[in-house]
Amino acid sequence: MNPIGTRILLVEDETPMRRFLRTALSAREFEVIETTNIREARLSVTAHPPEIILLDLGLPDGDGIAFTHEVRAWSQVPIIVLSARGREEDKVLALDAGADDYLTKPFGVNELLARIRVALRHAGQLQAGMSHETVLKIGPLHLNPERREVRMHDQIVALTPIEYRLLWHLARNAGRVLTHQQILKTIWGPHYTHQTHTLRVFMAQLRRKIEPDPAHPQLLMTEMGVGYRMRDDG
Ligand code: CA
Repeated sequence: MNPIGTRILLVEDETPMRRFLRTALSAREFEVIETTNIREARLSVTAHPPEIILLDLGLPDGDGIAFTHEVRAWSQVPIIVLSARGREEDKVLALDAGADDYLTKPFGVNELLARIRVALRHAGQLQAGMSHETVLKIGPLHLNPERREVRMHDQIVALTPIEYRLLWHLARNAGRVLTHQQILKTIWGPHYTHQTHTLRVFMAQLRRKIEPDPAHPQLLMTEMGVGYRMRDDG
């Protein structure tokens, strides 16, 4: 990632938090546009389209989740929610509204930068439309979509069609958290979004086939109460 000139729209009403983010991001050559409420953010997002949005949820003139819905209606710009709300329901609401990721305050700069990197890379892949074609490599895990082949440390792993689709979906979104609902809708269809038990069973199967120690996964991470995230080592 080359951050020089990458424009970040920051929507945060808390002054110390805004200052911390501005300092951290400007030091890494990001262009940071600061807004403190939804009205300003709405104006800014159209006047100076950002490459990524960092969004607080509790804002003086409205809710970040509603703003996420609003932006998603016309833009795929990555949105990372930054919030003091640590509740699982809030994370799920934000992600289902179309946020790409979620950081609970307080968080470290390195964690934030890693999430920004993932979100920007994913946005770039979507734009280039290349993520369908290439072999995906995540540490020792290699997925070849042309051959529908999965290898772990060079050993072929035999997967059922659903296991394969599930793994491919997680791998394509490596580094991002996907909610149970998002995964169920993609793999099983819109009528299955409440079958979290089914998903859990398939995830356990996948871990048994891929993880050296399924009880302590290194690749297929659980986001407690929210969903799953494939580790990202890029
Ligand atoms: Ca706030």
